[in-house]
Amino acid sequence: MATVDGATLMARSLKAQGVDYMFGIVGFPVQGVAAAAQKEGITFIGMRNEKSASYAAQAASYLTGRTQACLVVSGPGVIHAFAGLANARENCWPMILIGGASPTYQNGMGAFQEERQTELAAPYCKYAHGIDRVERIPYYVEQAIRTAQNGRPGPVYLDFPDDIIRGEAEDENVVPAAPPAPLARPQADPGSVERALDALESAERPLVVLGKGMAWSRAEDEVREFIERTQLPFLASPMGKGIMPDTDLLSVGAARSTALREADVVFLMGARLNWIMHFGLPPRFKPGVRIIQLDIEQEEIGRNVPAEVALVGDGKAVVGQLNASLSNRQWFYPAETEWRAVLKEKADANAESIRPMVEDESSPINYYRAYRDIVEWLPEDAIIIGEGANTMDIGRTQMPNHAPRHRLDAGTYGTMGIGLGFAVAAAVANPDKPVVSVQGDSAFGFSGMEIETMVRYGLPVKLIVLNNGGIGGGIGPLEEGQTPPPFYLTYGAHYEGMMEALGGKGIYVEDTADLRAALDEAMAFDGPALVNVPLDPRAGRKPQQFGWLTT
Ligand code: ADP
Ligand code: MG
Repeated sequence: MATVDGATLMARSLKAQGVDYMFGIVGFPVQGVAAAAQKEGITFIGMRNEKSASYAAQAASYLTGRTQACLVVSGPGVIHAFAGLANARENCWPMILIGGASPTYQNGMGAFQEERQTELAAPYCKYAHGIDRVERIPYYVEQAIRTAQNGRPGPVYLDFPDDIIRGEAEDENVVPAAPPAPLARPQADPGSVERALDALESAERPLVVLGKGMAWSRAEDEVREFIERTQLPFLASPMGKGIMPDTDLLSVGAARSTALREADVVFLMGARLNWIMHFGLPPRFKPGVRIIQLDIEQEEIGRNVPAEVALVGDGKAVVGQLNASLSNRQWFYPAETEWRAVLKEKADANAESIRPMVEDESSPINYYRAYRDIVEWLPEDAIIIGEGANTMDIGRTQMPNHAPRHRLDAGTYGTMGIGLGFAVAAAVANPDKPVVSVQGDSAFGFSGMEIETMVRYGLPVKLIVLNNGGIGGGIGPLEEGQTPPPFYLTYGAHYEGMMEALGGKGIYVEDTADLRAALDEAMAFDGPALVNVPLDPRAGRKPQQFGWLTT
C-alpha cells in the first residue's frame, strides 16, 4: 500500500490550495518541508531572517491575490515570524505561516526549541491550529487558507511538529480537502446602494477615499468607472495609491489635508478611519462629517465615526452595484464648483511651497531634489516600496503610482524593516516588472542582510537608500568624542559597499548632479543594485500643519 510522508502531504496540500511561493528559513525540523515544496512545484525562497520571510509571504499574497506561505523553524524561528503575522493582521492581508514544532511526544519535556507556538500565534491570526495527524494535513491546510483569504483577509498559522512532518500516512486514509473556491464577493443591501448615491448627490464637498481593501478586491475597473461617471474628487490611502492613477485629473491627493478637513461627505472605500485617516475626527475632519463606508467587515462600520450609510460587501461587487444604479440617474458632480477650486488652489500652493527644495542643486542633496531625479527615472510599471520616516512620507507624495498594487510600505502597523522582504516578494512574484525600494538608512538596516537573498536568486531589485545618518532626523558626522545621540546612525555609512561585497552593484552619490546617472547605471545593471545617497542631515519636509501624512 502506498504511503505519503507529512512533509510531502503538506507541500501537495499547499499547492492544491493555490500556494505558489514559500518564503522561509530551513533548519530542524522543517528542511524536508522546503525540499518537498520545491519538488511539488512551489517556488521556495530562502531568506536570512524569519521576519523578512513573513513580510515577503504577505506581500506575495497581496500582490498575487492568493495566500502564500512562510516556513520557519520551531521556537525562535516562529517568534521572529510573528512580526510578519502582526503586520499582516493590521494590513488585512492573508498569509499562511507554517511553524516547525518539537515532536509531540516531547511536549512539556523541555524539548529543543519547544514553545507554546499555537497559543502565541493565535492573537495575531484569524486561525491558528496544531496539526495532530499526518492524515489530516490537507484538512487543516484547506481550512487555514480558506480562512486567510475570505471575508476580511488575514494571517493564519499551522503548527507542524517534527513527528508529523516525518510521519507517514497510507494514501487511502488521507482526509480529502476541497479545492479552493473562488473568493466570495458579497453584495451590499440594494437600499444602501441607493442611499449612498443619494448622500453623494446631496453633498457640497464630496470626497472619495480609496483604501487598500479595494486594491485587494481588485476593484480598479469598477472604481475607475465610478469615478469617471460621477466625476467625484478622490484621494488614496498610502497603499490605495494606484487604484486610480495619481496623475488623474480628479485626484486631490496633492491637497490631502484640506480635502479631508473640509469635505462634508466622505465615501470611504476599503479604508479604515484609523490613525492613517486621523480617526475621522476634528481637527483633521469637519465636525459632523457624513461618512459613507464600504467594507467587507461589518464590525468595522462605524468605528470612531458613525456611518450614515453602510455598504457591507466586497469592494468590486459593491462598486459594480453603484455603477449599475448610476445608469438610472442623471447626476454627476459638476465640473465647476467652489470645492474643486479650493482643492486646486491648495494643490497648486503645495507644489509652489516645495519648489525651492525641488530645484535646490546644492550637495548634499535634500529629499525633494532627490525625488525629482527618482521620479523622472522611475519606470511607470515599477512596483515601488517605501519605508522610513521622511523618506516614506515625502516619497508617497512625490512618487506617483499609475497602477493598483504597485506600492508597498510600512502600512497600517507602521512597520520599519518590511522593505527588503517586500522587495524580494515583489521581484519573485513579478519577474517582468522593475522593483524599486526607496528607504531611509534606519529602515534599510532592519533587514539589510536580505540583499544577499537578492543576489543569490538574481532578483534585480533597485534599492535607493536616502541616508541622513539617523532614525528620523540626522545631525551629520559626530564631533570628536561625542556620545552618539539615541537617534544617531553613522553618517555617510557605505551601505552600497555591502551590496558590492555580496555580489551586486553599489553606488555612492555624493554630488547632486551625479544622482541621475547613478540611477541609470543601477537600472542598467542586470541584478540587484543599491544607490546610497547621503542627504543633507538637516533636510526635512515642507512645514506641516499636523504631524504626519499631510500634504
Ligand atoms: P488603508 O490603509 O488603505 O486605508 P485599511 O487597511 O485601513 O486600508 O482598510 C482596508 C479595509 O478594507 C479593511 O477594513 C478591510 O476590512 C477592507 N476590505 C478587505 N477586503 C475587502 C474587500 N474585498 N472588499 C471591501 N473591503 C475590503
Ligand atoms: Mg535616516
